[in-house]
Amino acid sequence: MSGHPHSDVGASSSQRWMNCPGSVLAQSGRGGSSSVYADEGTAAHELAESCLICGGDAREWLGHQIEVNGRVFVVNEEMAGAVQVYLDHVRRVLEHEQCATRPFFSVEYKVDLSWLREGMYGTADLVIYDGYTIWVIDYKHGKGHAVTAKGNTQLRYYALGPAWAYRCESAAKVVMTIVQPRAEHPEGRIRTDTMTKDALLAWATQELGPAVDATRKPGAARKAGAWCRWCAALAVCPEAMEKAQEDAAVEFSRVDPEWDPKTFVPLDPGTLSTILKAKDFVVQYLNAVKVEAHRRLAAGEELPGWKRIRGMARRRWKGEPDEVAQFLEAWGVIYDRCWNRKIISPAEAERQLSALKLPKEEKKEAKDGLKEFWEKLPGKPRVVREDQPGEAIGPNDAPDVPEDEFTALDFFE
Ligand code: SF4
Repeated sequence: MSGHPHSDVGASSSQRWMNCPGSVLAQSGRGGSSSVYADEGTAAHELAESCLICGGDAREWLGHQIEVNGRVFVVNEEMAGAVQVYLDHVRRVLEHEQCATRPFFSVEYKVDLSWLREGMYGTADLVIYDGYTIWVIDYKHGKGHAVTAKGNTQLRYYALGPAWAYRCESAAKVVMTIVQPRAEHPEGRIRTDTMTKDALLAWATQELGPAVDATRKPGAARKAGAWCRWCAALAVCPEAMEKAQEDAAVEFSRVDPEWDPKTFVPLDPGTLSTILKAKDFVVQYLNAVKVEAHRRLAAGEELPGWKRIRGMARRRWKGEPDEVAQFLEAWGVIYDRCWNRKIISPAEAERQLSALKLPKEEKKEAKDGLKEFWEKLPGKPRVVREDQPGEAIGPNDAPDVPEDEFTALDFFE
């Protein structure tokens, strides 16, 4: 999607290298093959790009195949629905918000920050500029990790592209938005941060530029933290190993020294809290180590006590679904029983109503009528750090504890 080669101080990895300057050298030459999730995200971006350039909605591409790195992704309801949230937001900004004048609009906007430091470039999903406000809108297809817009260095990096390009014009405000429809976040699926253009440029010279310099110093320091999640060197990094050991051993050893080991562990609130804090990094580290084990076994290396096996085989249709249904029908199966029909979501139903060519009042009447058919279920309770967004729920609110709270641990069968 990007015409540029990969930048080692790029936008998407900026949280990592700004916190751990040594990670640029540590992970050079590592990584390589992309994950199925990353490729699926690229496919969704390509769908969004096609819709914005050619016009039309994502559902019009249902069944269309998109190939990324040899993997084929079929545009299904889930992908089309998620991409449509992004398209709707972009079109809302273009049509209804403060775009008073005919705005500049660029899909896959090439960002070049070589004016700040050499080697800084990337591609922003979408940039809009109306002579006063610059909008930078980033689509995220992932559902595993909800990304916050406030203070997001990737968004700021992208926004610096148009902010610099229009520095001599009247651009004054920068609105940076993440659209991430499939991940749960207390601020919703569309999250925004706003800065003045001058504040953004000051951040670039005071923080971003010096952070790049730090990565290029001989012996640049490594510092482990939450940002290691995306580092290709995580499994082999001494600082990460040390932190995982410290988090596991030191925090777990907080148990009261007076404790009689023949009784249950006295998990006082302080101990419980510190063990939970340790969990995130330890799980991340162990996952990276397991991936490294997969890689080495696949390359033929011996790992004492471990082997690779195939999971349970699954059957799937090879031909066109309709041909299968016709075959079954020919043998007497009722055609309709060959298909699982599923009603569209309330959000999609509202969107379909909006797209109808009806007078405004009738659309409102239809949407009001639709309300009779849906209800909002409360979200599943989750345990998160105190500083994360979201209002704490009371002790009697949602008393059932979900059993799949720590599904990440399932990786270790
Ligand atoms: S694993 Fe963490 S500490 Fe190690 S190089 Fe990567 S980001 Fe830095």
